[in-house]
Amino acid sequence: METETQDLFAEPVTPELAAKHIAAVAAHHGKNEKLAWKRKVKKMMGLIDEVGVVEQEILELVLKKQPTLDEIAILRAEMTKECIHPKDHLVHLTTCLMCKFCDKRISIPRILKAESPEVDEGEDVSQ
Ligand SMILES: [Zn+2]
Repeated sequence: METETQDLFAEPVTPELAAKHIAAVAAHHGKNEKLAWKRKVKKMMGLIDEVGVVEQEILELVLKKQPTLDEIAILRAEMTKECIHPKDHLVHLTTCLMCKFCDKRISIPRILKAESPEVDEGEDVSQ
């Protein structure tokens, strides 16, 4: 096995010999096959150009949506700061409630105590 490998590389591969090897492989297929293949290369270049046009459009759309995303981020930050802890964003964690909108933990309202009858279910009592 090792001898075979040594035989393969016995002849030094000069740049000239390498060029001969490449030319021999490249000459293997006929003129018609080469023409058909070159037509496909040309078609592929056209398709790649089409993809480039679409990618440019995507880039323009990404840039176009950015101001709106920025506005949403600013609005969301304001809403988080002024959060009213809407009912559909509240989750009961047994020992407290959590608002999924602002990520705040809120203590459970003591609705059963007579001294705080004005406290309704779901109201923020931690602030
Ligand atoms: Zn909240």
